[in-house]
Amino acid sequence: MAEISIRSIRKSFGATSVLKDVSLEIADGEFLTLLGPSGCGKSTLLRILAGLEVQTGGSLAIGGRIVDGVRPKRRDVAMVFQSYALYPHMTVAQNMALPLRMRRLSSWQRLPVVGRFLPGTTAVGAEIEKDVMRTAKALGIGHLLARKPGQLSGGQRQRVAVGRAMVRQPVVFLMDEPLSNLDAKLRVQMRAEIKELHQRLGVTFVYVTHDQSEAMTMSDRVAVMLDGELLQVAPPQEIYADPDDRRVAEFIGSPK
Ligand code: ADP
Ligand code: MG
Repeated sequence: MAEISIRSIRKSFGATSVLKDVSLEIADGEFLTLLGPSGCGKSTLLRILAGLEVQTGGSLAIGGRIVDGVRPKRRDVAMVFQSYALYPHMTVAQNMALPLRMRRLSSWQRLPVVGRFLPGTTAVGAEIEKDVMRTAKALGIGHLLARKPGQLSGGQRQRVAVGRAMVRQPVVFLMDEPLSNLDAKLRVQMRAEIKELHQRLGVTFVYVTHDQSEAMTMSDRVAVMLDGELLQVAPPQEIYADPDDRRVAEFIGSPK
């Protein structure tokens, strides 16, 4: 069964149509990359999957459940943003713990005796601390938990952003150009680490990039996007060897 079912999704901002009837089935455990030039609608589609943006038309199912109108926190997805979106006033540990605290507190809040949750002011609970520690160690950032994002390198920040997504134990990872702020050498190293993470967790990844070589080396399938449309969805070798369409061939740079 498809883990993600995207059915005729459309999105307009005012009079501008950004996604034009996008349909795609993504299998459970698949590494699917949305590849396309800047401005073609990749982030918009990812944000719709995350529930951060509402589609103009069409429907979306994740894990067999229609999620139209379901709030981001109630979807089993975690997103890693291009900018990492870490809170600068919080430590690495607090940044990573935040999704867990929000989730656990949202059920505690129904109990009458529990007070208000103030981000970054309360100590991290023992159980949450253990989850955060384990994840941080696995990502090689265990020694950085007390630092703030401003005291980290780009690569370390990127790992914190991935760690914050991991602690939620999502069934779907959404990653929006997570390596674009890193230098070339680190980018190649992090590709391997993200692939390793995918294999270890065995969950579904929807990865966004405009970088062909990233798409070709990391993905089970690549969905080539141009001007709000999916032109071809196929394994990397097939896209490269047998582009469906002149526009795919031009973007990939292979002859046809
Ligand atoms: P990509 O991630 O592929 O670079 P985006 O999904 O960010 O593309 O953007 C696709 C198009 O939608 C762009 O032309 C962009 O300017 C437009 N767009 C994105 N978000 C908004 C918004 N909130 N309001 C108006 N236009 C937007
Ligand atoms: Mg984008």
